[in-house]
Amino acid sequence: MDIAVIGPPGAGKGTHAQSVISEFGLNYISTGELLRDNLEQETGLGFMAQGYRDRGEMVPTQVIDAMIVDFLGKVSPDTQLLFNGFPRSVYQAEFLDKLFSKTNRTLGAVIFLKTSDDEIEQRISERLICSACQAPFHKRFYPFRSCPYDRCTGEHLYRRTDDTPEMVSDRLNTFYRNNEPIIDYYQKTDRLFIVEGEGDLLRVDQAIVNVVRKILNDEAQPATRSEVEQIRFLKPAVPDPVTVIDIRQTLDIIFLGAPGAGKGTQAEVVSQQFNIERIATGDIFRQNIKNQTQLGKVAKTYIDHGKLVPDNVTESMVRDRLSQSDVEHGFILDGFPRNLPQAEALTAMMTSLKRRVSGVLYLSVADEEIIRRLSGRLMCPTCQRPYHEQFNPERICLNPSCEKEPLYQRDDDRPETVKARLKIFHGETAPLVDYYRKAGLLIEINGQGELTDIGHQVREAVEGLYSLLPQS
Ligand code: AMP
Repeated sequence: MDIAVIGPPGAGKGTHAQSVISEFGLNYISTGELLRDNLEQETGLGFMAQGYRDRGEMVPTQVIDAMIVDFLGKVSPDTQLLFNGFPRSVYQAEFLDKLFSKTNRTLGAVIFLKTSDDEIEQRISERLICSACQAPFHKRFYPFRSCPYDRCTGEHLYRRTDDTPEMVSDRLNTFYRNNEPIIDYYQKTDRLFIVEGEGDLLRVDQAIVNVVRKILNDEAQPATRSEVEQIRFLKPAVPDPVTVIDIRQTLDIIFLGAPGAGKGTQAEVVSQQFNIERIATGDIFRQNIKNQTQLGKVAKTYIDHGKLVPDNVTESMVRDRLSQSDVEHGFILDGFPRNLPQAEALTAMMTSLKRRVSGVLYLSVADEEIIRRLSGRLMCPTCQRPYHEQFNPERICLNPSCEKEPLYQRDDDRPETVKARLKIFHGETAPLVDYYRKAGLLIEINGQGELTDIGHQVREAVEGLYSLLPQS
């Protein structure tokens, strides 16, 4: 049975993992080290990762996943593993379960090292890192400035530039946002074990070793629901966008709805009527696929299977788009957010831009209608305008600038993929309806019926939102 240790940055995962390893002889696997090894050994995956790092981007989860597959191929199936820093998302947790089921392994336990934000902030503010092996040291316990490990030659210890209180608080926000669903995932499958990560170092060491012993003897009690809820108390509050003062008045709208609900069509009209940019994450991905960029290559595998592109990839793309000057006065998001972590990430992005979401237009359409629409949907490869084969039997784009470009059917509009997309919509995106309703931002519009009638309701809703902005 394999085990993973998770917990906020600075909780001491690496330090305590070492004690578990020496006590039980597990094989250590940390994604940070895998990444460093691949970079150092200049493997193909290392080269891929380097490209992202050079551009200051996060290494996509797919690359990390591939490193894990590679690593597992090299260790004997009987070795027991201790993961540190992986999984970091439910996607990765599911990936690991699927991968393990094929290789006769099981991730039997996930230990969450529970440590309060105050403690983390205090620890990180006194943390120094080895410039060669990246091992962390605490000034309180190790008052020297050079690395003591044999693998290094007394390298200098330095303070990371992002170890400031504000940045630590940001990192903790991100951590809890991404880890709440993981914690849920493992609690529901009785694989989560919580260990108190604060207090005397040796006591924490002992506690974690004891838990692992019990886990290996099948005597440990997995965490209960109420214990998990205690962890949530640690979660720092994301600033409420309504109470943030000095908000810039912009028309920032979200279109929510199942694939094929008509978001793109309606959003395009609103974009022209109100002269604000439409940001369609699906269109941006398709453009990247067409241009064969790295982002396109990563996104394609997910899109072709009707899956969501990993949150970190999509979020950094949206963050980048929202920082551009053409959305200064407003934007329409079409296809983002698509799950709760993305919605929370958007709130954080908006807060840092001193903006708030003006309203969320939800186009509700029954599944049967969605299937009917998507099975006949055709797209223009140039302007991405959607058509239905029933109303465009010539199958050419009517946009004058596209010069009668022949239309095509999107790969992900095939019936099998549509089913997968609808499943994701109901499982991941539909909860956003309630989320935005509770925030007082939801405007529900029946997306079935006459196109002109729907367009009329959408326009009225947006005019209502516009009228709430102070006019200069
Ligand atoms: P769409 O054109 O909006 O239907 O998006 C097509 C595909 O792009 C989706 O099925 C996803 O694979 C991917 N995609 C678009 N937006 C997102 C998002 N916000 N998060 C993750 N994946 C997305």
